Amino acid sequence: MREIPVTSVTGHADTQHPLSSSEVARIKADFEILEHPINGTDLVYLDSGATSQKPRCVYEAEQHYYETANAAVHRGAHSLAVEATELFEQARETVASFIGARSNEVVWTSNATEALNLISYSLSNASAGLGGSAAERFRLTRDDEILVTELEHHANLIPWQELAFRTGATLRYVPVTEDGALRYDLLEELVTESTKLIAFTHVSNVLGTITDVERFVQAARRVGALTVLDGCQSVPHLPVDVKALDIDFMAFSGHKMLGPTGIGALYGRAELLDAMPPFLTGGSMITVVDMEHAEYLPSPQRFEAGTQRIAQAHSLATAASYLDEIGMERIAAWEEHLGTLLLEGLSQLDGVRVFGPTDAPRIGTVPFEVMGVHPHDVGQYLDSRGIAVRVGHHCAQPLHRALGVTATTRASTYLYNTEEDVAALIAAVGSVREYFGV
Ligand code: PLP
Repeated sequence: MREIPVTSVTGHADTQHPLSSSEVARIKADFEILEHPINGTDLVYLDSGATSQKPRCVYEAEQHYYETANAAVHRGAHSLAVEATELFEQARETVASFIGARSNEVVWTSNATEALNLISYSLSNASAGLGGSAAERFRLTRDDEILVTELEHHANLIPWQELAFRTGATLRYVPVTEDGALRYDLLEELVTESTKLIAFTHVSNVLGTITDVERFVQAARRVGALTVLDGCQSVPHLPVDVKALDIDFMAFSGHKMLGPTGIGALYGRAELLDAMPPFLTGGSMITVVDMEHAEYLPSPQRFEAGTQRIAQAHSLATAASYLDEIGMERIAAWEEHLGTLLLEGLSQLDGVRVFGPTDAPRIGTVPFEVMGVHPHDVGQYLDSRGIAVRVGHHCAQPLHRALGVTATTRASTYLYNTEEDVAALIAAVGSVREYFGV
């Protein structure tokens, strides 16, 4: 299904075998920032869950665009405008193919947060009567329910709280157990004829656990509810095919998958996007405008008001091609390997508690706590040794509450991390308590 680009952007052509340590070392060399020392020592970057580093070809693509093709898209009659439009639409095709979608099913947004807000505001506009008869199916009333989970990043929770508030619908959630496992056993009971939309994460940004998407989709199909998948932590790390997953919408961010900041995307089934009222309005998304009314283009332009992030789309497509050339299955297998090393190594340390269910499939993301030392102190100590991790509630306060803590320290891996990076983290975490005199 995936389109492998003809021009190699990685030079790493072996797609048949698992990633080896030497291949990872070659990949790492594409990321210039990883060669720069931090606090006088080699950088060990274990914060890709927050944002990934970028290979040279990604920012060179952006620079090349500005040097050779920069123009406003979709409206100019001159050669540069034609070239910029072609690159912009080619980028859409590349990113659509990366997730198994058609190109008119990918809407550019600033990030995943905006993509999720786009759906929430569009449904709220439909509920207020906008969008005519085509949008009737998206109307929510006080008799309806929206279902989320307790695992969610705030970006996939607050837009639904707001939608419930604006429409009078009720927000319900699938809880987690005390170790953070989703209570799938409650789905049958929680999904009712009143459920109009189910929003859930594919991979938890805190625990790294992979959700059983099929169970949610089956429950939604039973009652005709829409499904919204938060793909922020899955699209960068796992092979994701939206058609095979059979979801209605998916949001993801470019900066977490080797792409630039400032761009993300919303996948939506074309027949749904074409019937939804717009979120932002203005130039570039209309067919006819008079002083009282406007008619809108079909998707994706209907959701892309104003001048778009053209250089960033081109650069994100380069990132998707880079990942595709190495192979998402191989990347996922390497990260699973690193995740296992992390889990085993950290669990064996005295006074260290690792969070998350032990039997769930996970990506290479592991949250932990060093007993008696605040996560911020842990983070600063690791930073002094050149190790970058994330500390805090990771924009998932309800999940942390369910886990019985206010904050954790999170190590998250990517394709450029080595076994040595993991060993360096484990050794450093092992010396935290002694350093703080606990
Ligand atoms: N959802 C998940 C699971 C995330 O991990 C994040 C970012 O950390 C987001 C949504 C929001 O992404 P962004 O800040 O790029 O919009």
